[in-house]
Amino acid sequence: MRSYDIAIIGGGIGGLMSAYALATKKPELRILLLEKGHDIEKRVCPIVAGKVPACVRCPSCAIMEGMAGAGAFSDGKYVISTEYGGWLPDFLPPEQVLAYIEQADGILQSFGAPAERFMPNDELKKKCLEHDLHMAQAQLKHLGTDANFETMRKMVSFLRERVTILTDTNVIDVDKAAHTVWYERNGERDDVTASHIVFAVGRVGSRFFAKWCTENGIPLKNNQVDIGVRVELPSIVWEDFSHKIYEPKIWYRSKQYGDVTRMFCFNERGQVVMENTSGVLTVNGHAYVDEAKKSQNSNFALLSTIRFTEPFREPIEYARSVASLANLISGGSVLVQRLGDLLAGRRTDERRLAQSTVRPTLKAVAGDLSLCLPKRQLDNIIETLQALDRIAPGTMNYDTLLYGVECKYYSARPNCEDFELEGCERIYAVGDGTGFTRSLSQAAAHGLYVADKILRE
Ligand SMILES: Cc1cc2nc3c(=O)[nH]c(=O)nc-3n(C[C@H](O)[C@H](O)[C@H](O)COP(=O)(O)OP(=O)(O)OC[C@H]3O[C@@H](n4cnc5c(N)ncnc54)[C@H](O)[C@@H]3O)c2cc1C
Repeated sequence: MRSYDIAIIGGGIGGLMSAYALATKKPELRILLLEKGHDIEKRVCPIVAGKVPACVRCPSCAIMEGMAGAGAFSDGKYVISTEYGGWLPDFLPPEQVLAYIEQADGILQSFGAPAERFMPNDELKKKCLEHDLHMAQAQLKHLGTDANFETMRKMVSFLRERVTILTDTNVIDVDKAAHTVWYERNGERDDVTASHIVFAVGRVGSRFFAKWCTENGIPLKNNQVDIGVRVELPSIVWEDFSHKIYEPKIWYRSKQYGDVTRMFCFNERGQVVMENTSGVLTVNGHAYVDEAKKSQNSNFALLSTIRFTEPFREPIEYARSVASLANLISGGSVLVQRLGDLLAGRRTDERRLAQSTVRPTLKAVAGDLSLCLPKRQLDNIIETLQALDRIAPGTMNYDTLLYGVECKYYSARPNCEDFELEGCERIYAVGDGTGFTRSLSQAAAHGLYVADKILRE
């Protein structure tokens, strides 16, 4: 049986940063990185390539899986702040988290990422406060989907020289005592051992990871999920914000329920995209830097946060059920509806969609979101859109498009001691799939921190 010093499960930014730090700080280490999806150059979504009109549920979703992880085709927005993007500051001093975020940024710049940052803007924050809206402030970098992909491609190619990388390799189990990692590759089963094992499986691997934790007696905590829609409208509506800070991240507490609804993941002149998370189709968005690829629309996520109380403990299954309902009534796709039709209580059909002045950037099925989104979340979304319209008039336009369902599930978080899993010596948890982060910058910082911890040991 082959043995390594470190086995990293998952080739997203968390796993890659761990591999980078280990390989550059101690080149003699034998490092193995196992990635379920394809190598980065082979990641091609048939919808994006224009080969199929709708998701054909590829065995490995090129958007979510493969080298560079879920971030590969992302818009590449890097938050240089601890104000949002994950929960690492609950476990480490915020200054230390920020220092790791800066370190990750330096590494990305060495692979070609640009240095420019958007700075916080108090004037806009004040405007929001005047309307009971709360804007998170942060320094922000926007690489754009194309520049971000190229940066990650160079990083992966650098690592190929220093780390053993197995792609199309699905890890199916880990023996916590013997440190054996079992995986499937090309239909064959194989295994390796490693002194240290890092789970960096991302959102797409969170169910596998949670199941593994449960089977191995590691308690998990999770009670939050965000459900809502992707909003698409003419880019001029939010230009006052996007030209100054690039990404407005604004939250609102609804008067009706007291729930928090957040506007985030803003993509100026971007595209709405479909993603397949373990068989369930949801929506997301991205934007290119290349002028030729830009659309006339901007899009953003508008999601309402739900925190469940006892006895319910399966927020991810809840969100998957809501999203599955949209898949069901759209005949295996996602829905799009005009805001005006939603408010009027009627379905958007193809004829009404064709009349829309906002041209959809995603081929979704025209339908009725009120048939699948729970009333509470739908009310929160409408109330928040009304509030946002006061700072960016035009947001409540009849033709504003709402795509559904978008959800952000925050993976269950295992009991850990400094990110070492409870009762599992030298087995660590990193990134979004383990419930500690929810952004590129914090997942990257987390990967670097755990690598340093391993090096100290
Ligand atoms: C379309 C889109 C746009 C986004 N835009 C932004 C943005 O602009 N800014 C931002 O901060 N965040 C963004 N995000 C979120 C960001 O991508 C994640 O926060 C980040 O990728 C998390 O990194 P990670 O390494 O923890 O996980 P991931 O990037 O998800 O990587 C985990 C990897 O592990 C692999 N894996 C899972 N299970 C197994 C297994 N059993 N065996 C082997 N491999 C496995 C997966 O295939 C995956 O490649 C976006 C996400 C998406 C989907």
